[in-house]
Amino acid sequence: MKIYNIELLLLDVLSVLACIFFCYTENYLMLTILIVLLILLNTVHILSRVTKFRYSLIPHKKAIILANIDNQSILRLYYGRKKEKEAVDKILDIIEDNTKKGAYIKKYGNRFLIITTYTNTPELINTINKINENVSKIFEDDFFTLTLRFGIQLCDEEGFNSNLNKAFIACSNAKREKMSYFSIYDNEDVETHMKEKKKLIELVKSLKNHEFEVFFQPKYDYKEKKIVGSEALVRLVQDGHVIPAGEFIDVAEKHGFTTYLDKYVLREVCKKINELKRDKIEFNTISVNVSRNTLCEDKMIEYYSSMLDRYDIKKKDIEFEVTERSENELISPDEKIHEMSKLFNVSIDDFGVGNSSLSMLVESKIKTIKIDRQFIIDESEKGRTILNNIIKLIKELGFEIVAEGVETEEQKEYLTRRGCNVIQGYYYSRPLTFDEYKKALESEDN
Ligand code: C2E
Ligand code: MG
Ligand code: MG
Repeated sequence: MKIYNIELLLLDVLSVLACIFFCYTENYLMLTILIVLLILLNTVHILSRVTKFRYSLIPHKKAIILANIDNQSILRLYYGRKKEKEAVDKILDIIEDNTKKGAYIKKYGNRFLIITTYTNTPELINTINKINENVSKIFEDDFFTLTLRFGIQLCDEEGFNSNLNKAFIACSNAKREKMSYFSIYDNEDVETHMKEKKKLIELVKSLKNHEFEVFFQPKYDYKEKKIVGSEALVRLVQDGHVIPAGEFIDVAEKHGFTTYLDKYVLREVCKKINELKRDKIEFNTISVNVSRNTLCEDKMIEYYSSMLDRYDIKKKDIEFEVTERSENELISPDEKIHEMSKLFNVSIDDFGVGNSSLSMLVESKIKTIKIDRQFIIDESEKGRTILNNIIKLIKELGFEIVAEGVETEEQKEYLTRRGCNVIQGYYYSRPLTFDEYKKALESEDN
């Protein structure tokens, strides 16, 4: 921490010279006054370097800005700690050069802290744009473009800690944002954050209390007129109320809870498969959803393989549906999907909604692609053109197709006329409890 600035240093030197002069002329009154002044001035200056004190001295309309280096772990891995440190020092200089005179700038843990005055938000945005523009030039090769993500808190009447906290929340929001590298704190952010945390705590408790149940939604083959598989869909069952996955899966995924849920569902499905075998009920492949977070977990493939071995599940009995949705922009699971498809049956869920690369799909041993419901319900001319071309593309690439979310006779007719014969949706059946599913399978046997 720099204690002196150049002005204070000059003042101190002059004061010491004056002290010597007063000492020499035996003017002890002036000497005492000067020493007291010197001590006072320096104390105030040191104090002003302490973040909180400085914050309270800045006149109103101040903003706290926290900045993060985007993908810092990749930076460290690729360039090493020495270059990382150099980059951090350069960033501090750039921030200093581009912020208002009098702004307080400090390295704050892994982040950069800026406390500054401002007149309006465009002015602040302009400042962070300028900082990022310069930061992006730190590395001369094009491999890694250094970018900062900023969380901005336009300070309110609350104290320093409360405002800093809000800047932290804005900073983590900026980290999640894909399109923009800054986020300005909004009161609703905290409310959402708190609500999500509460929901997450309830989900963890529910898992502990065995309140999750697996339902099975049959997939029908229109031509063969029979069930050709099913999808395992998790449900939260509380006091007789059945809560579908759609109501909690986003929060679960955002906070990494799907990893636990997916393992739980897989184990339940393995048990149910053994029950079907024990009761000699014929069934086809059951699909189990795998979130991208789970997919990218270390040793995930080993874990899944050992689970299937433990319950003696055959490869043909289970298929993994890899959802295209992901909260984590750093996760690029194409490699994992590729690896997984060598060992298990893998299908791509919600095709067209996410960002799986087509080349990965073609190179992998993926069998099936599921067309998302949003393409099926869009009956506009444009929507139909998209659907027709998706079906054509999937078929020409040699994948099997499943259409999901089919609710009406017209939708079913439209799809089957285009050769999309495996249908999953309320038109044929809603997701069923295991007992109901067993009955549906048994009634087909007869
Ligand atoms: P998904 O895998 O695409 O599953 C299809 C969703 O559409 C299910 O919602 C299903 O109940 C619903 N659905 C099926 N047919 C129809 C229909 O005709 N009309 C309408 N409107 N909806 C239909 P659900 O069960 O609420 O699940 C939502 C999403 O949650 C799933 O989408 C899947 O991504 C996720 N999910 C469900 N179970 C699990 C799980 O065990 N693990 C993970 N990671 N995700 C799961
Ligand atoms: Mg699915
Ligand atoms: Mg889907």
